[in-house]
Amino acid sequence: MTYTIGIDLGGSKIALGLVGSHDEIVARRRINTDADAGLESVLDRIAREVAALNAELPADASVSALGVGAPGPVDHVSGDLLTLVNLPGISNTPFRRALSERLSLPVRLNHDAKVAALGEFHFGAGTDRDSMIYIVIGTGVGAAIIYEGALLYGESNSAGESGHMTVDPKGHLCHCGSRGCLETYTSGPALSKHYAAASGEIISGDGIARRALNGDEMALRVFNDAGRALGIAIASLAMTLNIETFVIGGSVAKAGDLLLAPARESLKGYSFKAVSARVKVIASALGEDAPILGAAHMARQLLHP
Ligand SMILES: [Zn+2]
Repeated sequence: MTYTIGIDLGGSKIALGLVGSHDEIVARRRINTDADAGLESVLDRIAREVAALNAELPADASVSALGVGAPGPVDHVSGDLLTLVNLPGISNTPFRRALSERLSLPVRLNHDAKVAALGEFHFGAGTDRDSMIYIVIGTGVGAAIIYEGALLYGESNSAGESGHMTVDPKGHLCHCGSRGCLETYTSGPALSKHYAAASGEIISGDGIARRALNGDEMALRVFNDAGRALGIAIASLAMTLNIETFVIGGSVAKAGDLLLAPARESLKGYSFKAVSARVKVIASALGEDAPILGAAHMARQLLHP
């Protein structure tokens, strides 16, 4: 029996899943990222968790490969982490190679949005599709495009930076230097900022979702604006690529139809009717398991390319 481990390397937590040969998660571990402690410390702690997962396997089985989803930008070919704004402690490190040497196992690393997209495409909301766009909405907004079964990287590896598509040229300045980016409407911090501007109260995206469900008008308006912006971005992507399945994941997407219903409505206003009629905007099926299963799938491809 061949086992792989999928690792979701996040800003605050590292989630590990031991995955069996039928793509099922059989055991999980979760530790703090604590990236400020540096690369060696992060590798030590991951190695400890991998050993613990290995110990749960029968004597004749062991882990054969690992996959890692990491915040971008990353070099998916070398597996190096580039300049990670939120994780300076492990920025600009040959993470994949270092982890592979530490564990004496093959490791593959890719951008976390792409890895989660692979999970949804192979095991979740996109299993019956040839093409799919996954949009992850949390602290930031990212996307991954799967076109006819393959991830699109673009000419210099920036395909999928759809969180920074301008959806309103007169909108707010974004930290990326551009204006009116999708992220300035839909990210968790953006929801908090817009709600605070309207109400004077600073609460989290989750809290705003709860208030919207209870009928709070300002909270509903913030989600409507966020969904409308998402619909504009989806319309442009659908018109450009003729991809018809959009899977929305990440913490903000847990709000479900509070966000997705206005997105479905607004995309009709910014695309051909024949296109919008075929576009499906659906919630992630796997949630936090998407990056773990996607990473384990990448690892398995190392064994059976
Ligand atoms: Zn931006």
